[in-house]
Amino acid sequence: MSESFDFKIITQCRVCGSKELAFILSLGSIYVSDFVTDRVSAAEKTYPLELVLCDPGQGGCGLLQLRHTVNPEKMYGFYYYHSGTNAMMRKALLDITTCAEKKIDLKKGDMVLDIGCNDGTLLRSYRKRGIKLVGFDPAKNLVPEARVGTTKIINGYFDYEAFEENFAGKKASVCALVAQELASEAKEVCDAVILQEDFQRYAKDKKAVKKLVRENAYFIGQANIMPQVASAFGRVLGPKGKMPNPKAGCIVPPKASLKPLYDKLQNTIRVSAKTAPVVQCRLGNEKMSDEHITQNLKVVYDQLVHSLPNGEDNVKAAFLKLTMGRPVRVK
Ligand SMILES: [Zn+2]
Repeated sequence: MSESFDFKIITQCRVCGSKELAFILSLGSIYVSDFVTDRVSAAEKTYPLELVLCDPGQGGCGLLQLRHTVNPEKMYGFYYYHSGTNAMMRKALLDITTCAEKKIDLKKGDMVLDIGCNDGTLLRSYRKRGIKLVGFDPAKNLVPEARVGTTKIINGYFDYEAFEENFAGKKASVCALVAQELASEAKEVCDAVILQEDFQRYAKDKKAVKKLVRENAYFIGQANIMPQVASAFGRVLGPKGKMPNPKAGCIVPPKASLKPLYDKLQNTIRVSAKTAPVVQCRLGNEKMSDEHITQNLKVVYDQLVHSLPNGEDNVKAAFLKLTMGRPVRVK
C-alpha cells in the first residue's frame, strides 16, 4: 500500500454514507496495537481511538464505528501477534476449519483462501490433504512462518488482481474413466478417476454422474473399455457434450501417458451452442496485452468458422466483453 497518510477522519458513515455521526466514547490517543514493548521508540506514534454512532434517530443505519482510519501500513505492516503461539487461539481456529470442512466436502485440488492469514495457523489446521492453502497478509514479519506448510502466501491486502496474477486462468478439471492398466497413471495425473469396477455403481446412480459432469470439464476414457464407459455414463455425458472425445485425443490406449493430454486439455478452449445459437468462451484476463487477447480471439474465431458448415456465413456477430462489463461488437 503506497498511501502515506497517518490517519484520516471520516465525515460519513462507513456503510450508509450518512453524515449524522454521534460521538459515543473516546479512549484518548493510544498505540496502534497492544503489544507495547521496549521496541516502542519515541518515533512510534499514538493515534486517537474514538467511537461514533451512525445516528438512527437522524435517519442513520445504527453502525457503531471508529471515527479515525489509521494508515493500515502502520497497523498491519509489522504485526506482533501470532495466532499459533496461543493454545486457545489454535483451538478456536481449528474449530473454524472443522466447521468449514463439515459444511463443504473439500476435494483434492480445491483451494481455501484465508484473508488476513497471520502466521498461517488456520490454513494449516485443515485436515483434508491435497488442498491448496492460500493466504493474504500484509505483515511482512509473519510471511516466513506463514509459508511453512502452505501453498501460497501473498504479502499484502487482499485484492482480486493479485489473486488472479497468482492463479491465472481457471483449471480445467479432468476425470479419467479407466481400467486397472491406467489406474495408477490416472490417479497421478487426473483430478478424478473412476475405475471400471465402479462403473456399475454409477450406472445405477444418475445423480452421482451428474455431479461428475458438474465437477469436470473433460472426461477421458480407456479405448478398450469404451462400450462400458458409454453404457454407464453415456446417458448423462452425451447430452452434455462431455463424452470422451476422440478428436481431442481423449480416448486413450491402456498404456498411455496421460500428462501430455492433461496439459493439452488445460490449454483447450471448448465452445458449444446449447439452447441458443450463441457460443461463449474466455479469451484471457485483464493482465494480458491487447495483442495477446486479439490473437486468442483470432485463433478461436478461425477455428470456429472452420468447423461451421457454411463458414463465415454462419456468423452473424461477435462480441468481446469483460467479466462484469458490457459487450462490445467486434468488427
Ligand atoms: Zn450508517
